[in-house]
Amino acid sequence: MWSQDMSLTKQSIEDRMTDFVESCRRRGVRVTHQRLEIYREVASLETHPDADTVFRRVRKRIPTIALDTVYRNLKSLAELGLVSIVGTSPERLRFDANVRRHHHFVCVRCGSIQDFCSESLGGVEPPPEANALGEPVSMHLEVKGVCKNCGTRTKRRR
Ligand SMILES: [Zn+2]
Ligand SMILES: [Zn+2]
Repeated sequence: MWSQDMSLTKQSIEDRMTDFVESCRRRGVRVTHQRLEIYREVASLETHPDADTVFRRVRKRIPTIALDTVYRNLKSLAELGLVSIVGTSPERLRFDANVRRHHHFVCVRCGSIQDFCSESLGGVEPPPEANALGEPVSMHLEVKGVCKNCGTRTKRRR
C-alpha cells in the first residue's frame, strides 16, 4: 500500500539512501562517493531535477565533479532501475528517486512535476497493444494541467 503522504522528511531521505545502498550491493554495483552524493540530491528533491540541477548541488560538496560525470551516473542509475527518467526530451531529462509506482501531474505553465498515487490507476496493467510492441517494464500516467501555484498567481493578477 502506498503512503499517501509523499512529502520528504529527513527520515525518508535517509530511508531512500539506505535502500539505494542495499540495491546497489544486491546488484553488484559499486557505491562510489560520487554516485552516493548524486543519488542523495535526486532523493532529497521532490521536483524531479534535471542533470544540471543535480550537478549544481553536488558541486557544493564535490567541487571537482563535472556535469558529464553527473549525467553519466544518472543515466546508469536509471538503467539499473535505481532512479527513473521523467520526460522524453533528451536534452533535458529529469530524474526521479521515487521508483515506486506513481503518476505525475505536470504543470503546462511552470513545468513543475508533482507525484501522486491513485488506487484506481494503481491496478491498471499495460494493454495487449503495448505488449505487442515489446516487453513492458513499467507504466506511467501523466496528467497535464495548471498547478495550484500558477493558478493562484493568475487569479491574483486579475
Ligand atoms: Zn505551475
Ligand atoms: Zn515522480
